Order: sequence, then C-alpha cells, then structure tokens
Amino acid sequence: MKNIAVIGAGTMGNGIAHTFAQSGFNVQLIDISQQALDKGLATITKNLDRMVSKEKISEADKQATLANITLTSSIEAGVQQADLVVEAATENVDLKLKIFKQLDEVSPANAILATNTSSISITQIAAVTNRPEKVIGMHFMNPVPIMKLVEIIRGYNTTDEVTEIIMDMSKKLGKVPVEVNDYPGFVANRILMPMINESIETLYNGVAGVAEIDTVMKLGMAHPMGPLQLADFIGLDVCLSILEVMYDGFKNPKYAPCPLLVNMVRAGKLGVKSGEGFYDYSQSRKAENVAKQFA
Ligand code: NAD
Repeated sequence: MKNIAVIGAGTMGNGIAHTFAQSGFNVQLIDISQQALDKGLATITKNLDRMVSKEKISEADKQATLANITLTSSIEAGVQQADLVVEAATENVDLKLKIFKQLDEVSPANAILATNTSSISITQIAAVTNRPEKVIGMHFMNPVPIMKLVEIIRGYNTTDEVTEIIMDMSKKLGKVPVEVNDYPGFVANRILMPMINESIETLYNGVAGVAEIDTVMKLGMAHPMGPLQLADFIGLDVCLSILEVMYDGFKNPKYAPCPLLVNMVRAGKLGVKSGEGFYDYSQSRKAENVAKQFA
C-alpha cells in the first residue's frame, strides 16, 4: 500500500493526512470546500512547524511530509490510484452513504474503503457498496498526529484479511490499533459517552457543581480532564448525537441523553466551539488556558 486518499480536510481529515504523509505514504487530501483544503494544509504546516521547533522531526522531514500531500476537490480524481481510502467527512449518515456509493464506483476494485465515523454503523455504510468485505472502520482520535489509539471496527462482512491489512497499516503509522466489532458506539464511545452523560445527570440532579464533579474524576480517578470539560472539548452536540445513536441502536434507556444536555444543545451552548458549555471560553478558547483553570 502506497497511495492513500483522505476524504474531508477538517479537524480529523487533516490530522489523518498528516499522519499518513509523515509515514511516507502518498496522500490525496480531498474536500468539497477549497477553503477547508487551504485551512487543512495550513494546520498540517503549523503542526509540523511545532514538531520541528520541539526537535521531534527535522526540517527535511517536514518538507518530505508536505511533498507527500496533494490537495484536490474531486473525489473521482483523488481516488484514481488509491490503495486505501479513509473517509473523514462530516458526520451525517446520508452524506456517508452517498460518498461510499460513489467511492465504490470510482475507486480501484481492490481498494479498501475505511471510515473514521464516530458513531455510524460500518455495516450500514458497507451495504451501499459492492465490496462490503473491504469496508472497515478506522476510528482515529483527536488530535490524530498525537493520539496513539486507532479503533479498528469490523463490519459484519469485513474479512480477516482486510482487518489484518488495516491493523498492520495502523502500526506502520506508529499507532496502536485495537480490533472491535460493529455495535453502536463501538468501544470508545460506548464507555465514554455514558460516563459523560452520568456526569451531566449528576449536575442536573444537584448532587454537585461542575468544578466539583470534574475535580472528583480528575483527582480521584486520575483522569487528565474532568468529564464535563471533556464534553465541552468534544462538543455537546456531538455527545448528544452519539448518545442518540446508542439509544436508538440498543433501545435501552440507560443511553437516554440527560435533559440538561438536550437543553444546552438547543440553547446553542455547544462547548469550546461556541464559546460556552459547562465552562465559559469567551476570554480564551485556547485549550491550554482552559485546562490551566482547573489544574
Ligand atoms: P469537520 O467538520 O471538522 O470536517 C469535515 C470536512 O468534511 C469538512 O471540511 C467538509 O467540507 C468536508 N466534507 C463534507 N462533505 C464532503 C464531501 N462530500 N466530500 C468531501 N469532503 C466533504 O469534521 P471532523 O470533526 O473532522 O469529523 C470528521 C469525521 O471524523 C466524522 O465522521 C466524525 O464523526 C469523525 N470523528 C471526529 C472526531 C473529533 O474529535 N472531531 C473524533 C473521531 C472521529
């Protein structure tokens, strides 16, 4: 495998492109928005600059990484030579199904099609293609160049061979892949989201305040960040939508989103990205500063 196409140049897509390019793969970074492509490349350049200044990589490594990345706004052109496509477009089921239908038509017949979805069924996505055995989840964590974990999600039809290829490929990226099966929330969100939801429920029930709940989990459980602060970073709208997928998927009330979470999303309090969630980010949206607040 040499040629990788990454669909979507947003938060995750640019990190995924960066990671593959830095490991020597040729990357076609594809987005429908030219602005997203420009911003994605600027982010990759900035992150590489930071690595150079920390002496983690050399200037030559940075140049080689950038030289491995080509930008394009056409899926058809971008996937022509692809051995592997990693889709990291907006989290929307209809959009993903449309993209995978197209990918199946225009990618080389032997290409593996992966998705970085946080919550959509791999089996459902695979079902719109004529190669469900070659469709798999590659769930990278944010920020991709730093976080070691990749959840590798086998759809109902994904073969052992394809799973093995993607597990090996993830190791070549310097990541630690973990193989899981395709059920709502996979493993990461199935465990994380109920914890976040329960923290919100604890706040909603008046058991303790925001800082108290986060302090208990940070100092008592050695979590680097409290669950409410983490929810602000992930985005409360994203947390709500993942909980809804699990609630719908399992038909189990234990995944029902807390009414306070629903209300906050309705009120536009989405966390860091909107300037306010459980904490106020209006003074500084910089993660470091916010983290210092409760360190
Ligand atoms: P984002 O909104 O930052 O970026 C999505 C990009 O997709 C945008 O640049 C948009 O222009 C592009 N796009 C939309 N339609 C497209 C199309 N038809 N063709 C090509 N590009 C298209 O989103 P994100 O946070 O990077 O999330 C991307 C995926 O990664 C989602 O499936 C999400 O669930 C998953 N994910 C996100 C995180 C996270 O922390 N943000 C973590 C793990 C997984």
